[in-house]
Amino acid sequence: MSKQFDVVVIGGGPGGYIAAIRAAQLGMQVACIDEWKNAAGGPAPGGTCTNVGCIPSKALLQSSEHFEHANKHFEEHGISTGKVTMDVAKMVARKDGVVKQNNDGILYLFKKNKVSFFHGRGSFEGKAEGGFAIKVAGKDTEVITGKQVIVATGSSPRALPGVAFDEETVLSNDGALRIGAVPKKLALIGSGVIGLEMGSVWRRLGSEVTILEGMPAFLPAADEAVAKEAKKVFDKQGLKIELGAKVGEIKTSKKGVSIAWTNAKGEAQTLDADKLIVSIGRVANTTGLNVEAVGLQMGERGDIVVDGECRTSVPGIWAVGDVVRGPMLAHKAEEEGVAVAERIAGQHGHVNFNTIPYVIYTSPEIAWVGKTEQQLKAEGVAYKAGQFPFLANGRARALGDTTGFVKIIADAQSDEILGVHIIGPQASELIAEAVMAMEFRASAEDIARICHAHPSLSESTKEAALAVDKRTLNF
Ligand SMILES: Cc1cc2nc3c(=O)[nH]c(=O)nc-3n(C[C@H](O)[C@H](O)[C@H](O)COP(=O)(O)OP(=O)(O)OC[C@H]3O[C@@H](n4cnc5c(N)ncnc54)[C@H](O)[C@@H]3O)c2cc1C
Repeated sequence: MSKQFDVVVIGGGPGGYIAAIRAAQLGMQVACIDEWKNAAGGPAPGGTCTNVGCIPSKALLQSSEHFEHANKHFEEHGISTGKVTMDVAKMVARKDGVVKQNNDGILYLFKKNKVSFFHGRGSFEGKAEGGFAIKVAGKDTEVITGKQVIVATGSSPRALPGVAFDEETVLSNDGALRIGAVPKKLALIGSGVIGLEMGSVWRRLGSEVTILEGMPAFLPAADEAVAKEAKKVFDKQGLKIELGAKVGEIKTSKKGVSIAWTNAKGEAQTLDADKLIVSIGRVANTTGLNVEAVGLQMGERGDIVVDGECRTSVPGIWAVGDVVRGPMLAHKAEEEGVAVAERIAGQHGHVNFNTIPYVIYTSPEIAWVGKTEQQLKAEGVAYKAGQFPFLANGRARALGDTTGFVKIIADAQSDEILGVHIIGPQASELIAEAVMAMEFRASAEDIARICHAHPSLSESTKEAALAVDKRTLNF
């Protein structure tokens, strides 16, 4: 007889492993199936986020930022270092170590919470008595059954038509995190979050970076004021971003890559580079899942169709994270995973899609939550806005990083905070206060009346809240 579980989770990324652990904590018998392999062929749970996404990219961003600080900013603190060099192999090995710590941490949590882990590919066999039969193709092949199934199979990088990833010259995010030596010239296609973060890593290490972006506007999802400031700073840093670029033929050779493209004025151009990173979005992972066996309804983009509570078209099957609608973010996947586990347990799991923060870990960092000014204008919502620059913040001056600002947008009548937009030092941490405030439906005045430590970057958030009503303290 096959092994039987209350819940079988297919996929062990942030959506899947968090759902599995939460379901086990709520007293259910849980299995989690994940096929990711480490270099030795062993299990490496954590999905894209842990293996080739959030965690390794932040490790490289940190290393490259230290390098840039040592080269360009230590001197102003009176620190002499002599010639600073970068051992790329060591940086990449450190990053691999950080990834492994996270893989091991997840395996430990599975054990601690009594989640049965299966290393291999999971696919639907069909309905079974009291649930669903799932085939696990790993070292051995076996069939397990689950009364409820959570699909959390994530996403994969989208390739340009006719230009496959070879991970040597044409790189996805995977290859971009394993480049063995600093390329002299690096080309990127796509100036979204991944393009900007990867471009920043290699620019800081000395590459001449050019990003070709098809859209005429830079970071259209961000508040326009933030996008404008970001473009100005990235230009100054030497990150070349070509907007409105149409990419044509791409030729690879032993020497590198040659990209024919047309600029915004319609002029034909050629970009030669040692390597090309393609970061034009991601596609839902459902290959080999055999969704037909259970009749799951699929969306036009190859995603699994779910309702607002992550229920698929088949009762008893749920789907969370990148494989469903909504922003492709690890914390969104985690929130959905927890909520689904709680719903299966009969509780009232909850995800507030209005308070999901967005972060870009460039320097300066960019973070926001809620609505942008351009969205509110389009929706005809009456609002007021306050902005405060880090240039006037004592802590930012002491840090030596005064780029950017905090901007708060509030409802014109009720003063409820509708959006907070930050570009500047530690924006990724500062945004948490805004998320909390919006979750509790705070007003701008609420933030303005909260005592913030001095000197701290968060005083800029307080000042922006005061500025909403045209007041200021100027710490
Ligand atoms: C370079 C990069 C940087 C990023 N940085 C951030 C960031 O800073 N912050 C952020 O919030 N997000 C970031 N993301 C996005 C984030 O990684 C994803 O949103 C997140 O990983 C989605 O989680 P998930 O659980 O839905 O899927 P995934 O993490 O993709 O996990 C899915 C797992 O399922 C496995 N799987 C797939 N099919 C099967 C099957 N049939 N059987 C068994 N296993 C299967 C896969 O191997 C994988 O392990 C980044 C992404 C990239 C590429």
